[in-house]
Amino acid sequence: MDKQAKMKILAKQFGDMSKNKDMKAFFPDKANPFIWHVSYKGPQDSPFQGGIYHCEINLTNYPERPVTLKLLHDNGSYQNNASLCIVGLTEMGGSWTPGTSVETIISSLSILMNVPEGRHGVGYIVQTNEADIKRHNITSQTFKCSVCGVDHSTMFK
Ligand SMILES: [Zn+2]
Repeated sequence: MDKQAKMKILAKQFGDMSKNKDMKAFFPDKANPFIWHVSYKGPQDSPFQGGIYHCEINLTNYPERPVTLKLLHDNGSYQNNASLCIVGLTEMGGSWTPGTSVETIISSLSILMNVPEGRHGVGYIVQTNEADIKRHNITSQTFKCSVCGVDHSTMFK
C-alpha cells in the first residue's frame, strides 16, 4: 500500500476516533503522521476507573501488520515506555486482523489493563498491585506529556 492510501485510511481512523468520548488522539510530531499519542479512559468498574492513560501508537505498518504501543507513564498494568505487541492482546484473538480499527486497539488496551490472566507478554507487569494502580490512577489525572503537550487535568471534563 502506498503512503497516500495509508494516509487516507489513517485520516478516516482519526475522524472516527474524534467522535469517541473515551479517547483522544494527538500528533506528537507534525512531520510524522504514523506516530500518534492517545489519551484514553481507564476501564470502568476497575481500580483504573477515573484514570486517564497516555500511550504512543506506531502506525507505520498499519493496516497490514500489527501496530506497537507503549504507555508513556507509570500505570500499574503495563511497563512504562515498553513496546507492547497488540497481537498478544486477547481481545484481538491472538492474531492480527488488517481491518482492526485504531479505536478497537485502544479499547482493547484499556480493557486489558484490568485482565489478570495471561500477563506474560513483553511489557506487561505480571504481578499487579492494586495500591500502585490506584496511586498511578490519581497521578494520571494530572499527567502532562512533554512531547505532544496534552494536559490530562483539562481532559474529558
Ligand atoms: Zn503525548
